[in-house]
Amino acid sequence: MENLASGGRLGDGPALPLLSLGRSSEPRPGPRAARPIQPGDLMPKPLKPPAPATAREMPLTQTMREYLKTAYRLCNGGDSLTVTALAEAQRVAPASATAMVKKLTRLGLFTHPHYGAIRLTEEGVRQALLAVRRHRLLECFLVRVLRYGVDEVHDESHRLEPAISERFVAKMDDVLGHPRHCPHGDPIPDVNGAMEKVEKIPLTQLEEGRAAQIATIPGSKRDLLRYLIKLGIIPERPICVLRREPFGGPLHLKLGRKTVLLGPEAAEHVYVCAAEA
Ligand SMILES: [Zn+2]
Repeated sequence: MENLASGGRLGDGPALPLLSLGRSSEPRPGPRAARPIQPGDLMPKPLKPPAPATAREMPLTQTMREYLKTAYRLCNGGDSLTVTALAEAQRVAPASATAMVKKLTRLGLFTHPHYGAIRLTEEGVRQALLAVRRHRLLECFLVRVLRYGVDEVHDESHRLEPAISERFVAKMDDVLGHPRHCPHGDPIPDVNGAMEKVEKIPLTQLEEGRAAQIATIPGSKRDLLRYLIKLGIIPERPICVLRREPFGGPLHLKLGRKTVLLGPEAAEHVYVCAAEA
């Protein structure tokens, strides 16, 4: 396997030398030289800057966070949603979704008038984005500090999310130097739950010959992610569609000096930011 990237975003930091896949046969970068524990290491270090008061803790369980994230995705920025849609997306019975909607409405995170459509409140949106922040910061932490493969961190973050505190989230952010993107290129909401809006389109919609930059690769589709990374399709790389084969055939892509063929089924999961025309 060749070197996959000599730079790349991967959470915006200098700490990651190469994009790595999990269980790769390539040698991984060695651990940093161990330093004997100093007395100061045992004292908690103050956070710089201190965690702002706006990031107040809500008594949320991981299930609640998952519902909020799902609702945010389904609402797509402002639409309303139904219990049925929420139950289907969460793969639970409608009765469970109804019970959770009631809980989240009581917490002021949903509005749900009798038989009406469900909406996220302003605080609901904020909490959904803070849940997204928790997930994406964990992904960065796993890649950059613990040297996980980029293809492994979505599932691992999912497992760790329920266990970590707000303090842990703030510490990761601090240690990582406040990264703005997860290793898959998705933006990380800030400590107030504000997230940058990226104008991106699926690679399948990019016009031939138009210069673009890879924005995101699909973090949760592990096999596809490994395949894309092997081809060198990683966030922040310049990319251009040279031509498309007809009848659903592959796209001929220019990636640096290489030409790569990618089928439309894979290409529709890669998002790009097109350069100004
Ligand atoms: Zn991600």
